[in-house]
Amino acid sequence: MDLFSKEPDYRSLTYEEVRDLALKCEKCPLSKTRNKVVFGTGPVPCDLMLIGEAPGADEDEQGEPFVGRAGQLLTQILASVDIKRPDDIYIANTLKCRPPDNRTPQASEQAACWPYLEAQIFSFVKPKIIILAGAPAIKAVLKTDEPISKLRGKWQKLPGTDIAVMPVFHPAYLLRNPSKEIGKPKWITWQDMKEVKGALEYHRKLRELVREPED
Ligand code: SF4
Repeated sequence: MDLFSKEPDYRSLTYEEVRDLALKCEKCPLSKTRNKVVFGTGPVPCDLMLIGEAPGADEDEQGEPFVGRAGQLLTQILASVDIKRPDDIYIANTLKCRPPDNRTPQASEQAACWPYLEAQIFSFVKPKIIILAGAPAIKAVLKTDEPISKLRGKWQKLPGTDIAVMPVFHPAYLLRNPSKEIGKPKWITWQDMKEVKGALEYHRKLRELVREPED
């Protein structure tokens, strides 16, 4: 425990210890209305991480991120660029608990929950690339008020780091806009995911080159 704050020093804890703290967390009022804490799933470490907004009803029920209809669509979009769940991507949200009626997360809730996400990013997953799905995740992680319309599809850097960030539409938005026509949100998101896949391949090849024995 840090002497000057009530927060534990997450950097000194294991992944399981941080997850266990989150599963019992009562740092914000969402602890009173949640069913299950949705910490995150996927390999640790992992080159690719996706961060969404908050759990919905299905996620709150099952304790897993992106398992409802939006999650199924996300799985399909990722598969279309040969990114497989759960092996190739770690998935989490800015909030570990569901806001009532799926309302937009409040800044105070995201601030209370940030230390868990921070530990996931920097201590455990250590991604090369982060996909940010939807405006609330983009706002919370990039600490920006720029609208998603300006940021989507343009590579960003996680503030203070070299981690590449790709902001994309949230799959729930794509469910409401199902057309696959060129230029529509679904098609645009597919292009964004192809960009992500290209960047992932770049990192994979770079790692192979570094590992190649010298003649
Ligand atoms: S949303 Fe985050 S900070 Fe709030 S109770 Fe859940 S785990 Fe704790």
